[in-house]
Amino acid sequence: MMGALKAAPIITTVVVLLVVSLLQAQGTPPPTPLMLVSLEGRRPIPTTVLSGQELIALDDVATLFQVTVREDTLAGGITVTYKGRTIVVSDDQPMASVDGRVVTLPSPAARAGRRWLVPVEFLSRALAPIYDTRIDLRRTSRLLIVGDLRVPRVVGRVDIPGPPTRATLEITPASPVTLTVDATRIVVRVDADALELTLPSGGGGLIEQIRPGDQPNTVTVVLNGRAGMARAASMDADNVTRVTIEVPSLNPPAETAAPPAPPVAPAEPAPPLLTATTRAALQTIVIDPGHGGEDVGVRGPGGVQEKRVALDVARRLRGLIENRLGIRVVLTREDDRSVSLDERAALANNSKADLFISLHANGALAPGVTGAEVFHARLDRESQDALRSADEAVSLPVLGGGSRKIDVIRWDLAQARHVDASEMFAGMLEEGLRAHVTMGPRPLQEGALRVLMGADMPAALVEMAYLTNPGQAATAKTESYQTLVTQGIYDAVRRFRSYLEEQRAR
Ligand SMILES: [Zn+2]
Repeated sequence: MMGALKAAPIITTVVVLLVVSLLQAQGTPPPTPLMLVSLEGRRPIPTTVLSGQELIALDDVATLFQVTVREDTLAGGITVTYKGRTIVVSDDQPMASVDGRVVTLPSPAARAGRRWLVPVEFLSRALAPIYDTRIDLRRTSRLLIVGDLRVPRVVGRVDIPGPPTRATLEITPASPVTLTVDATRIVVRVDADALELTLPSGGGGLIEQIRPGDQPNTVTVVLNGRAGMARAASMDADNVTRVTIEVPSLNPPAETAAPPAPPVAPAEPAPPLLTATTRAALQTIVIDPGHGGEDVGVRGPGGVQEKRVALDVARRLRGLIENRLGIRVVLTREDDRSVSLDERAALANNSKADLFISLHANGALAPGVTGAEVFHARLDRESQDALRSADEAVSLPVLGGGSRKIDVIRWDLAQARHVDASEMFAGMLEEGLRAHVTMGPRPLQEGALRVLMGADMPAALVEMAYLTNPGQAATAKTESYQTLVTQGIYDAVRRFRSYLEEQRAR
């Protein structure tokens, strides 16, 4: 279920809850440390997780980045200075003023003993704009890249266990590679400073494992004892370097020797070649699994939980879209953690996503209600008026006390200029889903949904099933139902991409 909410009171509540929990809780270190990657090398940096937020202490920021941190009691905030430029971090609003411009943060600064903690997003959203070296926070891969480093993204997978076993490494953006093949392994060396790796946890067929190599710019494909001499080749297309690996059996019996395998055909016809300066119409999609952490969402008979179904389908959808369409997919949460609605939209905006899909499951008082439904944003009267009056301003504390008004576009109106495209996409979602699953009583609806309103891109929300219906509660967690939902959404994404490409060709 999603909340169709009025903005202001909810923001206040969320902020108050966060502040209270930040003050009370003792943080825990994240499961994987955040790794700072710079020309000097790699080093883990200390962060702490409180209520699902990853925070960094400002005194550590001061040491790492040579900035000056000072508490400003008059302004009610903390100032961070670097080469004469100033950031004011608020201790009661999830925002900072960066050289006079407002940026949002997932939470306000919080005091822990004598230290001030800020969300790690402070580094990319507040510090990066005034810093004279590039700062790039990649949360999914736990990398904080400082400096003009080349850090391509590498996605590895075993495509066919075989034998022959086939595997692929996709390197984005396209980068020169050197392939070294011996009897036990293949080493892929990328012409880069470091790699952002997405590798499978296990192997498959004759491949034992695909793991990070011994150097920051290598990946090693480890073969098992039954593997013969592998072949590897690389090819560039659409700004992706694709390394294909084929591993035959050690001594295939003559009678079962496979005929020479045809090259692996791409699952989709390749899109028209784009020049390096043309951005693909649909480059990044953010998929938002609803709820998470203590926020379970709808709980159905048999213990099925909305947050769980949403994450399962999000992962399936990511796999399908990345593998078949070559579109980058970012999830708003990778695991069972709580993420605020604003933070979900902020992640989509900061990822420069071209499309936002929020996944939920529904609940109703009447257990008979069943089926999938799609929502897109609508502007209420108040929002339309606010959009027309371009004099929206926010008051922020400034250095030395007092406050000043700063013009910003109201956060909750980011969706305004995308409502038509969102409606178009929602219609495609409804048709895509209808081809695979039962639809609910109101299959296509509009509403002022907060998670959609903050998204500065076409956006829609899918209620995948009614978990309060015993039949749907039982099927929603099955692979077969999730595959049908995934396929329906995937079909809509593909159609929407074609639509965008047609629009552009005009
Ligand atoms: Zn929900």
